[in-house]
Amino acid sequence: MSIWEAYALDKDIRFRGSSGGTLTALNEWLLASGQIDSVVVAAASESSPEKTESSAVRTRSDIVRATGSRYAPTANAAAADVDNPASAVVGKPCEISALRALAKSRDQRSPLLLSFFCAGVPSQHATNSLIHELGVDDGADLAALRYRGHGWPGDFYVEDTRGNSARTSYDVSWGQHLGPAVQQRCKLCPDGVGESADISAGDFWRADSDGYPDFTDQDGLSVLIARTRRGEEIIRRAAEEGVIAVRAIDPDAVAAVQPFQVVRRATLLGRMVGSRLAGHPTPRYRGFRLRRLSMRSPLRTLRAMAGTFRRARRW
Ligand SMILES: Cc1cc2nc3c(=O)[nH]c(=O)nc-3n(C[C@H](O)[C@H](O)[C@H](O)COP(=O)(O)OP(=O)(O)OC[C@H]3O[C@@H](n4cnc5c(N)ncnc54)[C@H](O)[C@@H]3O)c2cc1C
Repeated sequence: MSIWEAYALDKDIRFRGSSGGTLTALNEWLLASGQIDSVVVAAASESSPEKTESSAVRTRSDIVRATGSRYAPTANAAAADVDNPASAVVGKPCEISALRALAKSRDQRSPLLLSFFCAGVPSQHATNSLIHELGVDDGADLAALRYRGHGWPGDFYVEDTRGNSARTSYDVSWGQHLGPAVQQRCKLCPDGVGESADISAGDFWRADSDGYPDFTDQDGLSVLIARTRRGEEIIRRAAEEGVIAVRAIDPDAVAAVQPFQVVRRATLLGRMVGSRLAGHPTPRYRGFRLRRLSMRSPLRTLRAMAGTFRRARRW
């Protein structure tokens, strides 16, 4: 329906947010104004913050506690109240697509579905080994762990109950540890941009001329995509009521700073063929125009096919 550059006008939420704090600001306003009665979020476990837990929350403080991305497995869809259209769910594109399909199959109105751009979910082992590498696992329990936020993109930060802490940049944590540990199934996923959501959020990176994001710390900025009328109405009203700042942008401006998402869609057919040639079953997708996209970048698609075939023979 429409695409926006956006950020939370509450400075604290913007600061804590993964990018512009937009999902948290929307959730908080939707709850406070009675438009939803609960929202499913993912947050650090209070007892073991290296783990991530999904739950339906009903208070501002729980919504704000769940601000920021958790680059580890967790199941928000499983905590959703699918029979309650007055609830909301934040979830990965795969979770939101499942919930949308479930509501459609039952011919019922779904909860409000909020998603985000997703490059895939890293294994929990990647978090554990990064903690180990940072030297904060000498027996004391952890008191806090966040993947980013507190600035944009913000550092991976871990602290134990004795007050020892360590941090490393997003470039290192995602680029060297978490990104390479993305689960195999995510590499065959056609939707990194929350196609089935009412609203989808991503990083509106500032990028160099090749599209590589500039990771120097700055004030967070999101891209918000309204994919349904319900989503668009929420964005417009939230902007009118001073919850988020928005500026309409061109879809090409988003593609320019999200080269990973563009290439992964364009070359997905290659990875699927490579996987199938190596003897693995692959999902069937309709409506993503994968054949047409692959013909636009044949060399890249062939390279993706060969690489997947080589790796898939070892699975
Ligand atoms: C696994 C993963 C991969 C991502 N890959 C990309 C990418 O390739 N490109 C990109 O632009 N952005 C990506 N993001 C999204 C990005 O980091 C921000 O979440 C998005 O820009 C929204 O920012 P925000 O400040 O508006 O959200 P915030 O206000 O910080 O809110 C984030 C919301 O997401 C929920 N959440 C956090 N982690 C999870 C999780 N694992 N599962 C379900 N819900 C969760 C939180 O509970 C919170 O409600 C990814 C996020 C995750 C979790």
